[in-house]
Amino acid sequence: MRLYELTAHELKEKIERREVGVEQAVRALLDRIAEVDEAVRAYVTVAREQALAKARAADERLARGEPARPLEGVPVAIKDNMCTRGVETTCSSKILKGFVPPYDATVVELLERAGAIIVGKTNMDEFAMGSSTENSGFFPTRNPWDLGRVPGGSSGGSAAAVASDEAVAALGSDTGGSVRQPAALCGVVGLKPTYGLVSRYGLVAFASSLDQIGPITKDVRDGALVLGVIAGHDPRDSTSVPRKRCDYLKGLVPDVRGMRIGVPKEYFGEGMAPGVRAAVGAALKTLQDMGAILADVSLPHSEYALATYYIVAPAEASSNLARYDGVRYGYRAPGCPDSVTMMTQTRSEGFGAEVKRRIMLGTYTLSAGYYEAYYLKALKVRTLITRDFDRAFEKCDCLVSPTSPTVAFRFGEKMDDPLAMYLSDIYTVTANLAGIPAVSIPCGFGEDGMPVGLQILGKHYDEATVLRVAYAFEQATDFHKAKPVLRDAGAGGAAMGGAAARGAAASGDGSGEAGGGPTRKAAGGEADA
Ligand code: GLN
Repeated sequence: MRLYELTAHELKEKIERREVGVEQAVRALLDRIAEVDEAVRAYVTVAREQALAKARAADERLARGEPARPLEGVPVAIKDNMCTRGVETTCSSKILKGFVPPYDATVVELLERAGAIIVGKTNMDEFAMGSSTENSGFFPTRNPWDLGRVPGGSSGGSAAAVASDEAVAALGSDTGGSVRQPAALCGVVGLKPTYGLVSRYGLVAFASSLDQIGPITKDVRDGALVLGVIAGHDPRDSTSVPRKRCDYLKGLVPDVRGMRIGVPKEYFGEGMAPGVRAAVGAALKTLQDMGAILADVSLPHSEYALATYYIVAPAEASSNLARYDGVRYGYRAPGCPDSVTMMTQTRSEGFGAEVKRRIMLGTYTLSAGYYEAYYLKALKVRTLITRDFDRAFEKCDCLVSPTSPTVAFRFGEKMDDPLAMYLSDIYTVTANLAGIPAVSIPCGFGEDGMPVGLQILGKHYDEATVLRVAYAFEQATDFHKAKPVLRDAGAGGAAMGGAAARGAAASGDGSGEAGGGPTRKAAGGEADA
């Protein structure tokens, strides 16, 4: 196994045992980026020199006999909407081009304090608005499983980086699904923590009441490991909640016997691709075979979730994005005769179409006369959606659903139809509206052998249960071990792509390819039936 293929916990152990040096690990990863990123395009910035300098410092620390820290030497990628001191932070927007933050986001500080090495900043939909990374102001990122398809979004760069072994772990941000949906589409693990658990200080705001930073990792153990590092109270974020620190690794027991898992019927309706339905159905059967008790539940206000989200999120965005005026950050339109023209020009040239659409929507729903009809109404429905969850959790330990209604789609497929794009978030936005934690884990393969994600949602601050169920499922299956095969990156990616490692799709075609695809390890076998 190559160094860059290891999980964070595997790599950290090797470093701890002094089998591998930090610089050696970081170089291997940087070489991997050089090898495949021309094709995948996960990164907007690779912080090569900074990463190597920090790696050497870490090696010196270890040579002095200091103990290895929780993420010692683990190369991590950061979505480009989190501030990194001295490293350009753009939100993949032309308007922030050239912005070099003078400070680190709290999560970045915490990762580095835990020994992680930040290797670069990943591509995203501009200001995290989108579900495919096609809204990046720079270039789209490609899905490592099929370079003709999107990696999901908005944290598409982070998910693609982890899936293609261009990062051992990554951070994304999730306002309506942007950690979970790209994780699902790229076959990796993505966790959105409870609102308030992880500091947003230094995260460029999209919709402040929904935004939450979360890890994207190769397995659930890594998700728990990274969460343990980044979670915790931060006085610099007024919505950060003071709570005792928690070791999420301790709760990872591969046992779901007797646990009550709710299956919300509204999340299994129309619009779901047959391959996704089959893979998620097989996953539910697996959980049941493992001793979990499945229960039908209803979240009756789910049908309003998307509409509610697309009022609340743009409203907050329109307010948050007012600060990009050509004065304080990044880009300024040249040659303007006065300040009003300069601000108008800067914003016209600097923002992309989707961002402008959201600013207009948000400004409209917040304006006098419409505020009550739209924004206030949306806030009320948001409360109803939260209560739906409260009621469901009276009977269940957690809920499960698909993460995304489809597998990764092709470039351009939804770009002309914003509503079709917004539908990608139908199963994910509710967790943000309610503020609850949710994880997406690989649970099989659907249409065209593309990865499918299973979403597990939990009670506020009950990341432990969500992670435990995810871990147990992962231990009973091998889906997370499947890797896309990237070949001949040097040739510009033309010959790349394909997913030789993918196995019997749960879509029912049963065509496990040579090379040993992922299968169920535990009893049963419908996944490869
Ligand atoms: N796709 C959703 C949107 O466009 C969610 C984005 C996100 O979570 N950042 O708003």
